[in-house]
Order: sequence, then C-alpha cells, then structure tokens
Amino acid sequence: QAKQQGKGCFVFHHQITDQHVKDTLIIEQELAEAIKADQFECYLQPIVNLDTQAVVGFETLIRWAHPSKGVVSPADFIEIAEKSGQIIDIDRFMLVKACELLASWLPSMQPLPYLNINLSSNSIAAEDFLNFFTATLKKHRIPPGALNIEITERALINHLGKANFILHEVKKTGQRVILDDFGTGYSSLSYLHQLPIDVVKIDRSFVSTLEQSETSQSITTAIISLANSLNMEVVVEGIEDTVQRDIVLALGARYGQGFLFHKPMDIPSAVKLLARYTTKST
Ligand code: C2E
Ligand code: MG
Ligand code: MG
Ligand code: MG
Repeated sequence: QAKQQGKGCFVFHHQITDQHVKDTLIIEQELAEAIKADQFECYLQPIVNLDTQAVVGFETLIRWAHPSKGVVSPADFIEIAEKSGQIIDIDRFMLVKACELLASWLPSMQPLPYLNINLSSNSIAAEDFLNFFTATLKKHRIPPGALNIEITERALINHLGKANFILHEVKKTGQRVILDDFGTGYSSLSYLHQLPIDVVKIDRSFVSTLEQSETSQSITTAIISLANSLNMEVVVEGIEDTVQRDIVLALGARYGQGFLFHKPMDIPSAVKLLARYTTKST
C-alpha cells in the first residue's frame, strides 16, 4: 500500500514538473524570438536626492513586450534566461541601449544623469564581457560615472574570484559598481571592503518593514554607517511613502528610489521628467 501511495505521489509530482518544464521551454523559445524580434524595452526608474527630490540618475529595468501576453515583467523571465544562458544577450542589449541613450543626452544635458544597468552573474562571468563592455563604452564615448553596473550579492557569491577581478577592471573604466539588494544575500561584511564597491543599495524588504520593525531600523542604520565608514554611497530602494522616506533620511541616507517618487517609465517620459532637472545648452 505504501508503495502504491508512493507511486501515486510520484505521478502527481511528475505532472506538476512536466507542466513547469513545458512552460519554461515555451518561455525559452519565446525569448529567442524576442531577442530577434526586438521585443525588449528599456524602462527607467529615477534615483533621487532624498532632500531635494532632484533626479540624479536612473536604473534601467527591462520590459518584454510579448506579442500575446502584453508586458511581461522581469520576475517572470530573468531566472529562466539565466538558466538558459540567454541572459548574456539580454544584458548586452540593455548595456547597448543605455550607452546609446547616454550618447544622445551627452551633447545637451547638464548635469548628465547616470544610468545603472543590472547584470546577472553569467553576464559578467561571460568570456568576453570586459571586451564588450569597454568597447561599447568607448564607441559611445561614455564619461566616467555615467554607466554604472548593479550586481546582487548573490551574483557575486556565484563567481566570487572572477567577479572580483572583473569589477576591478570595470572600475578602471571609471564606472561605478553598485551592490544591489544589499542585506538579502549571504555576504559577510568582512569581504565587503575587499570588493570594489562604490554604492550599496539597501533592499526593499528592509524599507517596507521600517515602520513596524526595530530590527529593520537597526539593520538599515548599521548598513548606512558601515557604508559611510567604507566611503560608499547608499541608495535606499523601494521607498513607497513619506514615513519611510523620513525614517531613512533621519538615519542618514541621501539617495533613494521608489514608487513614492517615480515608478519605472519609458524613455520619452524620462526625458520629459529630466527637463525639470537639467539645463539644455545649445
Ligand atoms: P532590482 O534590480 O532590485 O530592481 C528594483 C525592482 O524593484 C524593480 O522591479 C522595480 O520596479 C521595483 N521597485 C522599485 N521601486 C519600488 C517600490 O517602491 N515598490 C515596489 N513594490 N517595487 C519597487 P522590476 O522592474 O520588476 O525588476 C525586478 C528585478 O529583475 C530587478 O530587481 C533585477 O534584479 C531584475 N532585472 C530587471 N532588469 C534587468 C536586466 O536588464 N538584466 C538583469 N540581469 N536583471 C534585470
Ligand atoms: Mg537593480
Ligand atoms: Mg535592487
Ligand atoms: Mg530588488
């Protein structure tokens, strides 16, 4: 009887797995199409000075304009693309987009807002990442500090030795390295200072619990003071209301990002928004 039950469970389990495998395969096939058919779009979410609300830069966030499903969010395909290796092309697409955009802003926008791209661990570990990165920046004459890379703690851990080397090389190009989703990974504070990190982004999970949780406040305070003492900048992500903004301001944060200020937007909307914070020279 136990054997029968076991068998039943096995079949049931298999049905779920089969469906999941099918869905994943379909997305993989569709992603291959998407890359060819130019279905990806670059959205931008402003990063602001918490005091003045001035836009200092943007994070680029990918959106997939799926032919039948509408806009698909990265949560639904990035992991699949990471497993299949397609993320390498996807991240390159975003790098090129960001550089093209900066190049179009360069002649007229003062000050030039920076763009942060997100890179998965496979992307920075890819054989010719550094060549591609430096060549693309050079081609578009991207100035130092204008095109920064965001990498999560988790991605760093995946390829620690290699990542460390590559990030040092990225820094030689004058661009900045941002540790994304900080506090959620498995990193020990002891190696933080060995990595060439310029900015830490405090994860949304701390921000959303700031009001209820003293622990979240303590952790946020600790991260800010650690970052300060290591000469790193802090960006607080996922600020949704003024209470959260006021708490992080009081804790000493200077930059933030979140729905309170702006949601991710398409490029024309970002350009319109920038008109408020930049002067156009002629
Ligand atoms: P992330 O890099 O941590 O990006 C921040 C995410 O938080 C974005 O989700 C953004 O829309 C969302 N967010 C920002 N402010 C708020 C807020 O106030 N409240 C809430 N609830 N959410 C907020 P999104 O665009 O869905 O991206 C999810 C993740 O997908 C990103 O997390 C990043 O890890 C990944 N991703 C996005 N674009 C790319 C890409 O081009 N390449 C790679 N490798 N990963 C990407
Ligand atoms: Mg990010
Ligand atoms: Mg993040
Ligand atoms: Mg996040």
